[in-house]
Amino acid sequence: MKNDVLRLFFALGCPPELAEAIVTWRSNLHLHGRPVATANLHLTLAFLGQQPRARVMELQDLAGELRATAFDLHLDRLDRHRNGLLYLAPSPTPEALLELVEQLCSNLSSAAIQLESRPFRAHLSLLRHCPMQPIDANPCFDWPVTRFSLFASEQNTRGTHYRQLHTWPLLRNGHD
Ligand code: ATP
Ligand code: MG
Repeated sequence: MKNDVLRLFFALGCPPELAEAIVTWRSNLHLHGRPVATANLHLTLAFLGQQPRARVMELQDLAGELRATAFDLHLDRLDRHRNGLLYLAPSPTPEALLELVEQLCSNLSSAAIQLESRPFRAHLSLLRHCPMQPIDANPCFDWPVTRFSLFASEQNTRGTHYRQLHTWPLLRNGHD
């Protein structure tokens, strides 16, 4: 049955105030393309694809075992993929983010969850089918990352909606 599977991914959900600020900045660029909805702004850590609903508890347990630290993410780079995806990225990627992804992927592969072999590229998608990259956009957004979450990607009448299934705090200064 369709309801027995969920399209799952781990991600950093963009805090609402930051998402509003990013969307205001994006609007002022007057770009062509399909904008990502404010509520959907996120940074994917690991994409799991279709998984049996029955595995969600197991996934929650393995994510709860992670010991990763909070960090500051500076989104200061605007880039466009050749498929037309316009995105924000940090330069450079914080070590603590790479460490979080590494721990997560290691626990997922121990649980025999197949992940992509492509290397992780930190990015926050802004707009799809963007015909050209704007010049002089100079993004500068600071995101204090204190938690990560498991989401189910679902379709509704308004398009794609991400339902947060669970969220976990990151350690501050290496402590709980
Ligand atoms: P839509 O596909 O409906 O336009 P979306 O791409 O945001 O919207 P999903 O396809 O469910 O929604 O993807 C959820 C997240 O997982 C997004 O960050 C997306 O970039 C990422 N993702 C989707 N497919 C893959 C994949 N094959 N490999 C890696 N990441 C993926
Ligand atoms: Mg997609």
